[in-house]
Amino acid sequence: MTSNISILVINCGSSSLKFSLITASGDQLIQGIAEQLGTADAALSFEREGIDRVISISGADHKQVLDAVFGEIKDFAVAAIGHRVVHGGEDFKTAALIDADVLAAIEKNSSLAPLHNPANLVGIKAAQTAYPSLPQVAVFDTAFHQTMPPVAYRYALPEPLYTEQGIRRYGFHGTSHAYVSRRASQLSEAPAPHGWVCAHLGNGASTCAIFDGKSLDTSMGLTPLEGLVMGTRSGSIDPGLIIHLISRLGYSADEVDGLLNKKSGLLGLSGTTNDMRELGELAADPQSQHQTSAQLAIDVFCYKAAQSISAMICALPTFTGLLFTGGIGENAHPIRAQICGHLQHFGLSIDTEANQTRKPAERCISCIDSTRQVWVIPTDEEGQIAFDTRQLI
Ligand code: ADP
Repeated sequence: MTSNISILVINCGSSSLKFSLITASGDQLIQGIAEQLGTADAALSFEREGIDRVISISGADHKQVLDAVFGEIKDFAVAAIGHRVVHGGEDFKTAALIDADVLAAIEKNSSLAPLHNPANLVGIKAAQTAYPSLPQVAVFDTAFHQTMPPVAYRYALPEPLYTEQGIRRYGFHGTSHAYVSRRASQLSEAPAPHGWVCAHLGNGASTCAIFDGKSLDTSMGLTPLEGLVMGTRSGSIDPGLIIHLISRLGYSADEVDGLLNKKSGLLGLSGTTNDMRELGELAADPQSQHQTSAQLAIDVFCYKAAQSISAMICALPTFTGLLFTGGIGENAHPIRAQICGHLQHFGLSIDTEANQTRKPAERCISCIDSTRQVWVIPTDEEGQIAFDTRQLI
């Protein structure tokens, strides 16, 4: 009934808010971001019909910025609001129409995502106040991974930690992995059911094994820290290292948190930046004092990503191919080539020219005679949230 009107997608972070108004055919009518909320420098920048604008909203909080957003979109017909919510725990296997029970469950799961879920709730409540008659839908980063079997989601820890405390692997980036694997299955002519490994490589990075549209395993765990080397996150490390940091080196829990989440990964290894573009430039510059460390950061990133991809292949009954997405996966052809270079035993062979051709489109980059396919598929998390929201209204 609402196919001809748009979905407003809201992604509320702790100090930022992204929004996008998406039509039934997937066009973004207006999209923007508000950053540094709660400070004097708060600003809302957005693009509407190809024109960029920035509005100063000094001191604005989430509610005030949403009021400004609602002012900007008042000329458009909005069918529903889709909210990104980071953690749905085991309560949500799909997106959910928001009511009092759903709000309570999001609140309950805040203990698993203390920085994110409370911010998501602020966005939902502000949107409910502004648009009380519109349906509101929560789309969870974790929901897509609720199809994982226990062998993939259980840690080898005493059972009560799972049954009483909810300690298990949940996985994140679910909207991205769902979108990218769905597009790959639409585009690929390989016989179904398809078994994909999706590598979402951005500042945050994760891999996922998807068979016949269902997540069977993913590299992130209880938190988004597990798995690949990321921009500033260490990814998987020896758990004994944490004990060593605390008991031998005198770190507090907060210091360990800061070290592993904010000072490690590409930034920690290179000693200079978490930005893959800059690392590529530094590694190619013999004059740079960071040349060697930048190259090491790239090498470790690619090696760990390839190891994780090979682990995901184990989860699949059949392996159709590898999907690259995220800022690095979509744009950095040398990184794709280096990762695939580690994976030749798995029948992945990429066409050098197709890999190096720069275009923002979905494309197959494997050689014609490669046993497995390799695709680059730009992610569209907002589009997936709008898609999931539309399914529920
Ligand atoms: P986030 O997880 O914050 O959404 P993105 O998916 O936007 O991150 O990815 C950001 C990363 O993508 C950065 O490391 C950036 O340097 C990298 N990136 C973007 N474009 C390129 C490019 N052309 N070449 C190499 N890296 C790129």
